[in-house]
Amino acid sequence: MTLPHELIQSLQSVKGFQESSFRAVHESGEQVTAIRLNPAKQSVIQDKFTGQAIPWCPLGIYLNERPSFTFDPSFHAGAYYVQDASSMFLWEAISQLVPDPRNKKVLDLCAAPGGKSTLLASYFTDGLLVSNEVIKSRASILVENLTKWGNSNVVITNNDPVHFRQGGITFDVIVVDAPCSGSGLFRKDPDAISEWSLDHVQHCSLRQQRILDDIIPSLNENGILIYATCSYSLEEDEMIADWLMSSGEFEALSIAISEQWNIVQTFSEKMKAPGYRFYPDRLKGEGFFIAAFRKKTPAFALGKGKLSALKSPQKHEFAQVHEFLSAAENFYLFKQGDQFRLFDKQWQEELQQLASNLYIRKAGVGIGEIKGKDIIPAHELAMSLLPLAHFNQVAVNTDEALKYLRRQDLQLDTSKGWNLVMYEHLPLGWIKALPNRINNYYPQEWRILKQ
Ligand code: SAM
Repeated sequence: MTLPHELIQSLQSVKGFQESSFRAVHESGEQVTAIRLNPAKQSVIQDKFTGQAIPWCPLGIYLNERPSFTFDPSFHAGAYYVQDASSMFLWEAISQLVPDPRNKKVLDLCAAPGGKSTLLASYFTDGLLVSNEVIKSRASILVENLTKWGNSNVVITNNDPVHFRQGGITFDVIVVDAPCSGSGLFRKDPDAISEWSLDHVQHCSLRQQRILDDIIPSLNENGILIYATCSYSLEEDEMIADWLMSSGEFEALSIAISEQWNIVQTFSEKMKAPGYRFYPDRLKGEGFFIAAFRKKTPAFALGKGKLSALKSPQKHEFAQVHEFLSAAENFYLFKQGDQFRLFDKQWQEELQQLASNLYIRKAGVGIGEIKGKDIIPAHELAMSLLPLAHFNQVAVNTDEALKYLRRQDLQLDTSKGWNLVMYEHLPLGWIKALPNRINNYYPQEWRILKQ
Protein backbone atom coordinates (compact mmCIF):
# COMPACT_ATOMS: atom_id res chain seq x y z
CA MET A 1 0.00 0.00 0.00
CA THR A 2 1.52 3.32 -1.05
CA LEU A 3 0.40 6.10 1.21
CA PRO A 4 0.36 9.55 -0.43
CA HIS A 5 3.71 11.26 0.06
CA GLU A 6 2.04 14.62 0.60
CA LEU A 7 -0.13 13.17 3.37
CA ILE A 8 2.90 11.77 5.20
CA GLN A 9 4.73 15.09 4.78
CA SER A 10 1.77 17.10 6.05
CA LEU A 11 1.51 14.97 9.19
CA GLN A 12 5.14 15.20 10.28
CA SER A 13 4.53 17.84 12.94
CA VAL A 14 1.07 16.61 13.99
CA LYS A 15 0.89 15.36 17.56
CA GLY A 16 0.74 11.60 17.82
CA PHE A 17 1.88 10.87 14.26
CA GLN A 18 4.72 8.30 14.13
CA GLU A 19 5.69 7.68 10.55
CA SER A 20 7.27 4.23 10.82
CA SER A 21 4.54 2.55 12.89
CA PHE A 22 1.85 4.37 10.88
CA ARG A 23 3.32 2.99 7.64
CA ALA A 24 3.77 -0.46 9.19
CA VAL A 25 0.16 -0.75 10.32
CA HIS A 26 -1.02 0.18 6.82
CA GLU A 27 1.36 -2.37 5.27
CA SER A 28 0.36 -5.11 7.71
CA GLY A 29 -3.02 -5.75 6.09
CA GLU A 30 -4.39 -6.31 9.60
CA GLN A 31 -8.13 -5.66 9.81
CA VAL A 32 -9.99 -4.84 13.00
CA THR A 33 -13.64 -5.93 13.13
CA ALA A 34 -15.99 -4.57 15.73
CA ILE A 35 -19.71 -4.62 16.38
CA ARG A 36 -21.98 -2.60 18.64
CA LEU A 37 -24.94 -4.40 20.16
CA ASN A 38 -28.44 -3.02 20.03
CA PRO A 39 -29.28 -2.84 23.76
CA ALA A 40 -32.98 -3.22 22.97
CA LYS A 41 -32.39 -6.45 21.05
CA GLN A 42 -29.16 -7.75 22.52
CA SER A 43 -30.31 -9.92 25.40
CA VAL A 44 -30.64 -13.02 23.27
CA ILE A 45 -27.46 -12.64 21.27
CA GLN A 46 -24.99 -11.25 23.75
CA ASP A 47 -23.47 -14.69 24.35
CA LYS A 48 -23.10 -15.34 20.65
CA PHE A 49 -20.13 -13.02 20.24
CA THR A 50 -17.13 -13.39 22.42
CA GLY A 51 -14.35 -10.91 22.08
CA GLN A 52 -12.56 -8.14 23.83
CA ALA A 53 -14.72 -5.27 25.09
CA ILE A 54 -14.21 -1.86 23.49
CA PRO A 55 -13.07 0.27 26.42
CA TRP A 56 -14.95 3.46 25.43
CA CYS A 57 -18.26 1.86 24.50
CA PRO A 58 -19.98 -0.68 26.77
CA LEU A 59 -21.99 -2.03 23.83
CA GLY A 60 -18.93 -2.51 21.61
CA ILE A 61 -17.05 -5.78 21.05
CA TYR A 62 -13.91 -6.50 19.03
CA LEU A 63 -14.36 -9.73 17.10
CA ASN A 64 -11.46 -12.13 16.77
CA GLU A 65 -12.35 -12.77 13.16
CA ARG A 66 -14.73 -11.29 10.63
CA PRO A 67 -17.74 -13.56 10.12
CA SER A 68 -20.00 -13.23 7.12
CA PHE A 69 -22.55 -10.82 8.55
CA THR A 70 -24.78 -11.26 5.50
CA PHE A 71 -25.41 -14.87 6.49
CA ASP A 72 -26.18 -14.12 10.13
CA PRO A 73 -29.96 -13.58 10.41
CA SER A 74 -29.59 -11.74 13.74
CA PHE A 75 -27.66 -9.03 11.86
CA HIS A 76 -30.73 -8.52 9.64
CA ALA A 77 -32.90 -8.45 12.77
CA GLY A 78 -31.01 -5.35 13.98
CA ALA A 79 -29.32 -7.08 16.91
CA TYR A 80 -26.02 -5.33 16.23
CA TYR A 81 -24.29 -2.87 13.91
CA VAL A 82 -20.86 -3.38 12.38
CA GLN A 83 -18.86 -0.24 13.14
CA ASP A 84 -15.30 0.94 13.40
CA ALA A 85 -14.26 0.86 17.07
CA SER A 86 -12.81 4.39 17.03
CA SER A 87 -16.18 5.83 15.97
CA MET A 88 -17.80 4.21 18.98
CA PHE A 89 -15.92 6.74 21.13
CA LEU A 90 -18.97 8.92 20.48
CA TRP A 91 -20.62 6.88 23.26
CA GLU A 92 -17.98 7.92 25.78
CA ALA A 93 -18.08 11.54 24.62
CA ILE A 94 -21.84 11.81 24.83
CA SER A 95 -21.99 10.01 28.21
CA GLN A 96 -19.62 12.58 29.67
CA LEU A 97 -21.03 15.67 27.98
CA VAL A 98 -24.74 14.84 28.20
CA PRO A 99 -24.95 12.65 31.31
CA ASP A 100 -28.72 12.96 31.46
CA PRO A 101 -30.07 11.70 28.12
CA ARG A 102 -33.73 12.34 28.93
CA ASN A 103 -35.86 14.61 26.77
CA LYS A 104 -33.10 15.82 24.51
CA LYS A 105 -33.58 16.92 20.92
CA VAL A 106 -30.68 15.51 18.92
CA LEU A 107 -29.66 16.04 15.30
CA ASP A 108 -27.24 13.77 13.47
CA LEU A 109 -26.62 15.98 10.45
CA CYS A 110 -24.45 13.78 8.20
CA ALA A 111 -25.94 10.46 9.09
CA ALA A 112 -25.74 7.79 6.34
CA PRO A 113 -25.23 4.88 6.63
CA GLY A 114 -26.26 5.25 10.26
CA GLY A 115 -23.37 4.22 12.53
CA LYS A 116 -23.55 7.32 14.72
CA SER A 117 -27.35 7.49 14.49
CA THR A 118 -27.90 3.95 15.77
CA LEU A 119 -25.50 4.73 18.62
CA LEU A 120 -27.38 7.94 19.41
CA ALA A 121 -30.72 6.08 19.21
CA SER A 122 -29.45 3.65 21.86
CA TYR A 123 -28.38 6.50 24.14
CA PHE A 124 -31.25 8.97 23.74
CA THR A 125 -34.02 6.40 24.06
CA ASP A 126 -36.74 8.86 25.00
CA GLY A 127 -35.34 11.89 23.22
CA LEU A 128 -36.05 13.00 19.69
CA LEU A 129 -33.46 11.91 17.14
CA VAL A 130 -33.45 13.60 13.76
CA SER A 131 -31.14 11.71 11.46
CA ASN A 132 -30.37 13.61 8.28
CA GLU A 133 -28.64 12.65 5.06
CA VAL A 134 -28.37 15.13 2.20
CA ILE A 135 -27.64 12.62 -0.57
CA LYS A 136 -30.88 10.98 -1.60
CA SER A 137 -29.39 7.66 -2.67
CA ARG A 138 -27.54 7.33 0.65
CA ALA A 139 -30.68 8.09 2.65
CA SER A 140 -32.09 4.65 1.71
CA ILE A 141 -29.40 2.72 3.58
CA LEU A 142 -29.93 5.06 6.53
CA VAL A 143 -33.64 4.20 6.48
CA GLU A 144 -32.84 0.50 6.37
CA ASN A 145 -30.35 0.57 9.25
CA LEU A 146 -32.50 2.73 11.50
CA THR A 147 -35.61 0.70 10.72
CA LYS A 148 -33.77 -2.45 11.82
CA TRP A 149 -32.65 -0.66 15.01
CA GLY A 150 -36.33 -0.29 15.84
CA ASN A 151 -36.78 3.00 17.72
CA SER A 152 -40.01 4.96 17.44
CA ASN A 153 -38.52 8.37 18.30
CA VAL A 154 -36.48 8.83 15.12
CA VAL A 155 -37.19 11.07 12.13
CA ILE A 156 -35.08 10.59 9.01
CA THR A 157 -34.77 13.68 6.86
CA ASN A 158 -33.18 14.20 3.47
CA ASN A 159 -32.13 17.85 3.50
CA ASP A 160 -29.23 20.14 2.88
CA PRO A 161 -27.85 21.46 6.21
CA VAL A 162 -28.94 25.00 5.27
CA HIS A 163 -32.60 23.89 5.23
CA PHE A 164 -32.48 23.43 9.00
CA ARG A 165 -32.43 27.23 9.36
CA GLN A 166 -36.04 27.00 8.24
CA GLY A 167 -36.58 23.64 9.92
CA GLY A 168 -38.80 25.03 12.65
CA ILE A 169 -37.04 23.29 15.54
CA THR A 170 -33.78 23.69 17.43
CA PHE A 171 -31.60 21.04 19.09
CA ASP A 172 -29.82 20.31 22.38
CA VAL A 173 -27.17 18.16 20.70
CA ILE A 174 -25.89 18.29 17.13
CA VAL A 175 -23.45 15.72 15.76
CA VAL A 176 -21.59 16.66 12.57
CA ASP A 177 -19.71 13.59 11.34
CA ALA A 178 -18.49 15.54 8.37
CA PRO A 179 -17.76 14.36 4.83
CA CYS A 180 -13.96 14.39 4.66
CA SER A 181 -10.92 13.37 2.64
CA GLY A 182 -11.06 9.95 4.31
CA SER A 183 -7.38 9.28 5.09
CA GLY A 184 -8.42 7.58 8.33
CA LEU A 185 -9.97 4.75 6.33
CA PHE A 186 -6.99 3.95 4.09
CA ARG A 187 -6.13 0.75 5.97
CA LYS A 188 -9.69 -0.55 5.56
CA ASP A 189 -10.24 0.79 2.07
CA PRO A 190 -6.97 1.15 0.12
CA ASP A 191 -8.92 2.17 -3.01
CA ALA A 192 -9.71 5.47 -1.30
CA ILE A 193 -6.01 6.42 -1.55
CA SER A 194 -6.35 7.27 -5.25
CA GLU A 195 -8.99 9.88 -4.45
CA TRP A 196 -6.87 11.68 -1.87
CA SER A 197 -5.07 14.96 -2.69
CA LEU A 198 -4.12 18.15 -0.90
CA ASP A 199 -6.70 19.92 -3.06
CA HIS A 200 -9.35 17.53 -1.87
CA VAL A 201 -8.38 18.22 1.75
CA GLN A 202 -8.81 21.96 1.09
CA HIS A 203 -12.12 21.37 -0.63
CA CYS A 204 -13.35 19.24 2.31
CA SER A 205 -12.17 21.83 4.83
CA LEU A 206 -14.22 24.57 3.12
CA ARG A 207 -17.24 22.26 2.87
CA GLN A 208 -16.95 21.40 6.57
CA GLN A 209 -16.98 25.12 7.44
CA ARG A 210 -20.01 25.66 5.24
CA ILE A 211 -21.90 22.75 6.84
CA LEU A 212 -21.12 24.00 10.35
CA ASP A 213 -22.00 27.58 9.45
CA ASP A 214 -25.36 26.40 8.12
CA ILE A 215 -26.27 24.37 11.20
CA ILE A 216 -24.94 26.47 14.10
CA PRO A 217 -28.13 28.59 14.33
CA SER A 218 -30.14 25.41 15.05
CA LEU A 219 -28.16 24.58 18.20
CA ASN A 220 -29.65 25.77 21.49
CA GLU A 221 -27.79 27.92 23.96
CA ASN A 222 -25.74 25.54 26.17
CA GLY A 223 -26.28 22.88 23.51
CA ILE A 224 -23.47 20.50 22.62
CA LEU A 225 -21.87 20.34 19.17
CA ILE A 226 -19.85 17.24 18.38
CA TYR A 227 -17.64 17.46 15.34
CA ALA A 228 -15.91 14.38 13.90
CA THR A 229 -14.02 13.28 10.79
CA CYS A 230 -12.11 10.24 9.60
CA SER A 231 -9.28 12.44 8.31
CA TYR A 232 -5.82 13.01 9.80
CA SER A 233 -5.41 16.42 8.17
CA LEU A 234 -5.13 19.46 10.43
CA GLU A 235 -7.19 21.46 7.91
CA GLU A 236 -10.18 19.20 8.59
CA ASP A 237 -9.62 18.69 12.32
CA GLU A 238 -7.89 21.15 14.67
CA MET A 239 -8.11 24.00 12.14
CA ILE A 240 -11.87 23.53 11.95
CA ALA A 241 -11.96 23.70 15.76
CA ASP A 242 -10.04 26.99 15.57
CA TRP A 243 -12.38 28.30 12.90
CA LEU A 244 -15.43 27.39 15.05
CA MET A 245 -13.97 28.99 18.16
CA SER A 246 -13.05 32.19 16.33
CA SER A 247 -16.73 33.18 16.13
CA GLY A 248 -16.80 33.54 19.93
CA GLU A 249 -20.00 31.50 20.02
CA PHE A 250 -18.46 28.36 21.52
CA GLU A 251 -16.61 27.05 24.52
CA ALA A 252 -14.36 24.07 23.72
CA LEU A 253 -14.92 20.99 25.87
CA SER A 254 -12.54 18.33 27.14
CA ILE A 255 -13.39 14.65 27.25
CA ALA A 256 -11.65 12.63 29.96
CA ILE A 257 -9.66 9.74 28.48
CA SER A 258 -7.73 6.94 30.11
CA GLU A 259 -4.04 6.83 29.26
CA GLN A 260 -4.38 3.12 28.45
CA TRP A 261 -6.69 3.87 25.56
CA ASN A 262 -3.83 5.49 23.58
CA ILE A 263 -6.08 8.19 22.19
CA VAL A 264 -4.04 11.34 21.54
CA GLN A 265 -5.37 14.61 22.91
CA THR A 266 -4.38 17.61 20.83
CA PHE A 267 -4.98 21.36 21.17
CA SER A 268 -5.78 23.60 18.24
CA GLU A 269 -3.02 26.07 17.45
CA LYS A 270 -4.82 29.38 17.99
CA MET A 271 -7.67 28.77 20.45
CA LYS A 272 -6.24 25.70 22.21
CA ALA A 273 -9.45 23.74 21.68
CA PRO A 274 -9.00 20.08 22.71
CA GLY A 275 -9.42 17.41 20.05
CA TYR A 276 -9.01 13.62 20.17
CA ARG A 277 -7.05 11.70 17.55
CA PHE A 278 -7.27 7.99 16.90
CA TYR A 279 -4.29 6.45 15.08
CA PRO A 280 -4.48 2.78 13.96
CA ASP A 281 -0.89 2.16 15.02
CA ARG A 282 -1.67 3.25 18.59
CA LEU A 283 -5.03 1.58 19.20
CA LYS A 284 -7.41 -0.99 17.72
CA GLY A 285 -9.49 1.17 15.41
CA GLU A 286 -9.31 3.28 12.27
CA GLY A 287 -8.24 6.93 11.95
CA PHE A 288 -10.71 9.28 13.59
CA PHE A 289 -10.92 12.78 15.06
CA ILE A 290 -13.52 14.14 17.45
CA ALA A 291 -13.97 17.45 19.28
CA ALA A 292 -16.82 18.89 21.33
CA PHE A 293 -18.10 22.40 21.99
CA ARG A 294 -20.77 24.11 24.08
CA LYS A 295 -22.69 26.94 22.45
CA LYS A 296 -22.88 30.22 24.31
CA THR A 297 -25.44 31.99 22.13
CA PRO A 298 -29.16 31.34 21.57
CA ALA A 299 -30.57 29.29 18.73
CA PHE A 300 -32.36 30.76 15.79
CA ALA A 301 -34.52 28.68 13.49
CA LEU A 302 -37.43 29.86 11.44
CA GLY A 303 -40.27 27.68 10.27
CA LYS A 304 -43.63 28.08 8.64
CA GLY A 305 -46.00 29.78 11.06
CA LYS A 306 -48.85 27.59 9.94
CA LEU A 307 -48.18 23.90 10.28
CA SER A 308 -49.39 21.53 7.63
CA ALA A 309 -51.13 18.95 9.74
CA LEU A 310 -50.17 15.31 9.56
CA LYS A 311 -53.20 13.33 8.57
CA SER A 312 -55.13 11.92 11.51
CA PRO A 313 -56.91 8.57 11.24
CA GLN A 314 -60.70 8.54 11.41
CA LYS A 315 -62.44 7.30 14.53
CA HIS A 316 -63.15 3.81 13.21
CA GLU A 317 -59.56 3.54 11.95
CA PHE A 318 -58.26 4.44 15.42
CA ALA A 319 -60.36 1.67 16.87
CA GLN A 320 -59.16 -0.85 14.30
CA VAL A 321 -55.49 0.03 14.78
CA HIS A 322 -55.79 -0.06 18.58
CA GLU A 323 -57.40 -3.46 18.44
CA PHE A 324 -54.55 -4.66 16.22
CA LEU A 325 -51.85 -3.19 18.46
CA SER A 326 -52.96 -2.10 21.92
CA ALA A 327 -49.59 -0.40 22.56
CA ALA A 328 -50.60 2.11 19.90
CA GLU A 329 -52.69 3.94 22.51
CA ASN A 330 -49.50 5.25 24.11
CA PHE A 331 -48.27 6.78 20.87
CA TYR A 332 -49.16 9.54 18.48
CA LEU A 333 -50.90 7.87 15.56
CA PHE A 334 -50.94 9.45 12.11
CA LYS A 335 -51.54 8.42 8.56
CA GLN A 336 -49.26 8.72 5.57
CA GLY A 337 -50.97 7.63 2.37
CA ASP A 338 -52.68 4.41 3.42
CA GLN A 339 -50.05 3.62 6.02
CA PHE A 340 -50.62 4.12 9.77
CA ARG A 341 -47.61 5.25 11.70
CA LEU A 342 -46.69 5.66 15.36
CA PHE A 343 -44.44 8.25 16.88
CA ASP A 344 -43.43 9.02 20.48
CA LYS A 345 -46.24 11.18 21.81
CA GLN A 346 -44.07 13.74 23.56
CA TRP A 347 -42.47 14.76 20.25
CA GLN A 348 -45.67 15.19 18.30
CA GLU A 349 -45.32 18.97 17.90
CA GLU A 350 -41.71 18.71 16.81
CA LEU A 351 -42.72 16.12 14.24
CA GLN A 352 -45.39 18.50 12.91
CA GLN A 353 -42.77 21.24 12.64
CA LEU A 354 -40.33 18.99 10.82
CA ALA A 355 -43.02 17.70 8.49
CA SER A 356 -44.01 21.26 7.60
CA ASN A 357 -40.51 22.46 6.88
CA LEU A 358 -38.27 19.59 5.82
CA TYR A 359 -38.32 16.56 3.55
CA ILE A 360 -39.08 13.55 5.73
CA ARG A 361 -38.05 10.10 4.52
CA LYS A 362 -39.51 8.30 7.50
CA ALA A 363 -40.85 9.16 10.94
CA GLY A 364 -41.47 6.70 13.73
CA VAL A 365 -42.70 3.19 13.00
CA GLY A 366 -45.03 2.06 10.20
CA ILE A 367 -47.77 -0.16 11.59
CA GLY A 368 -49.62 -1.28 8.52
CA GLU A 369 -52.46 -0.60 6.10
CA ILE A 370 -56.13 -1.25 6.62
CA LYS A 371 -57.57 -3.58 3.97
CA GLY A 372 -61.23 -4.11 4.82
CA LYS A 373 -61.35 -5.90 8.15
CA ASP A 374 -57.70 -6.87 7.94
CA ILE A 375 -54.55 -4.88 8.66
CA ILE A 376 -51.58 -5.72 6.48
CA PRO A 377 -48.73 -5.40 8.98
CA ALA A 378 -45.73 -3.29 7.96
CA HIS A 379 -42.22 -4.72 7.97
CA GLU A 380 -41.20 -1.77 10.15
CA LEU A 381 -43.53 -3.04 12.85
CA ALA A 382 -41.70 -6.38 12.94
CA MET A 383 -38.37 -4.56 13.29
CA SER A 384 -39.64 -2.18 15.97
CA LEU A 385 -39.22 -2.30 19.73
CA LEU A 386 -43.00 -2.29 20.23
CA PRO A 387 -44.59 -5.22 22.12
CA LEU A 388 -45.40 -7.88 19.53
CA ALA A 389 -45.95 -10.95 21.72
CA HIS A 390 -49.67 -11.15 20.86
CA PHE A 391 -48.99 -11.88 17.19
CA ASN A 392 -48.62 -15.47 16.00
CA GLN A 393 -44.98 -16.44 15.81
CA VAL A 394 -43.03 -19.15 14.08
CA ALA A 395 -39.47 -19.98 15.12
CA VAL A 396 -37.03 -20.77 12.31
CA ASN A 397 -33.55 -22.28 12.16
CA THR A 398 -30.65 -20.65 10.34
CA ASP A 399 -31.37 -22.29 6.96
CA GLU A 400 -35.03 -21.34 7.09
CA ALA A 401 -34.15 -17.83 8.23
CA LEU A 402 -31.79 -17.39 5.26
CA LYS A 403 -34.46 -18.69 2.89
CA TYR A 404 -36.88 -16.18 4.38
CA LEU A 405 -34.34 -13.35 4.04
CA ARG A 406 -33.81 -14.34 0.41
CA ARG A 407 -37.55 -14.06 -0.05
CA GLN A 408 -37.79 -17.67 -1.15
CA ASP A 409 -40.72 -20.04 -0.63
CA LEU A 410 -40.92 -21.64 2.79
CA GLN A 411 -42.53 -24.70 4.24
CA LEU A 412 -43.28 -24.12 7.89
CA ASP A 413 -45.74 -25.49 10.36
CA THR A 414 -47.58 -22.32 11.37
CA SER A 415 -50.91 -20.93 12.48
CA LYS A 416 -53.03 -19.58 9.63
CA GLY A 417 -52.77 -15.91 8.72
CA TRP A 418 -50.06 -13.46 9.72
CA ASN A 419 -47.04 -14.79 11.60
CA LEU A 420 -43.84 -13.18 12.78
CA VAL A 421 -40.79 -15.15 11.69
CA MET A 422 -38.56 -15.45 14.77
CA TYR A 423 -34.86 -16.23 14.73
CA GLU A 424 -33.14 -16.61 18.10
CA HIS A 425 -36.17 -14.87 19.64
CA LEU A 426 -35.86 -11.84 17.36
CA PRO A 427 -38.42 -11.01 14.65
CA LEU A 428 -37.16 -11.07 11.06
CA GLY A 429 -40.43 -10.05 9.41
CA TRP A 430 -43.86 -11.32 8.41
CA ILE A 431 -45.26 -14.27 6.52
CA LYS A 432 -48.88 -14.97 5.73
CA ALA A 433 -49.91 -18.62 5.90
CA LEU A 434 -52.68 -19.46 3.42
CA PRO A 435 -54.37 -22.88 3.28
CA ASN A 436 -52.03 -24.13 0.53
CA ARG A 437 -48.96 -21.91 0.69
CA ILE A 438 -46.97 -19.38 2.67
CA ASN A 439 -46.47 -15.87 1.35
CA ASN A 440 -43.13 -14.33 2.18
CA TYR A 441 -43.44 -10.61 3.00
CA TYR A 442 -39.74 -9.82 3.47
CA PRO A 443 -39.07 -6.48 1.68
CA GLN A 444 -37.92 -7.10 -1.88
CA GLU A 445 -35.28 -4.35 -1.73
CA TRP A 446 -33.62 -5.75 1.42
CA ARG A 447 -33.47 -9.39 0.44
CA ILE A 448 -30.15 -11.23 0.50
CA LEU A 449 -28.83 -11.65 -3.04
CA LYS A 450 -25.42 -13.08 -2.20
CA GLN A 451 -25.21 -16.88 -2.57
N1 SAM B 1 -22.27 9.50 10.37
C1 SAM B 1 -22.17 8.40 9.42
C2 SAM B 1 -22.03 7.10 10.16
O1 SAM B 1 -21.55 7.11 11.29
O2 SAM B 1 -22.44 6.06 9.62
C3 SAM B 1 -21.08 8.64 8.41
C4 SAM B 1 -21.16 9.96 7.75
S1 SAM B 1 -20.03 10.23 6.45
C5 SAM B 1 -18.55 10.47 7.27
C6 SAM B 1 -20.48 11.82 5.92
C7 SAM B 1 -21.85 11.95 5.32
O3 SAM B 1 -22.04 13.32 4.94
C8 SAM B 1 -22.06 11.13 4.07
O4 SAM B 1 -23.20 10.32 4.22
C9 SAM B 1 -22.30 12.17 2.97
O5 SAM B 1 -23.27 11.77 2.03
C10 SAM B 1 -22.78 13.37 3.74
N2 SAM B 1 -22.54 14.65 3.04
C11 SAM B 1 -21.89 14.86 1.87
N3 SAM B 1 -21.92 16.16 1.55
C12 SAM B 1 -22.60 16.78 2.51
C13 SAM B 1 -23.00 18.13 2.70
N4 SAM B 1 -22.66 19.09 1.85
N5 SAM B 1 -23.73 18.40 3.80
C14 SAM B 1 -24.06 17.43 4.67
N6 SAM B 1 -23.71 16.16 4.54
C15 SAM B 1 -22.99 15.83 3.47
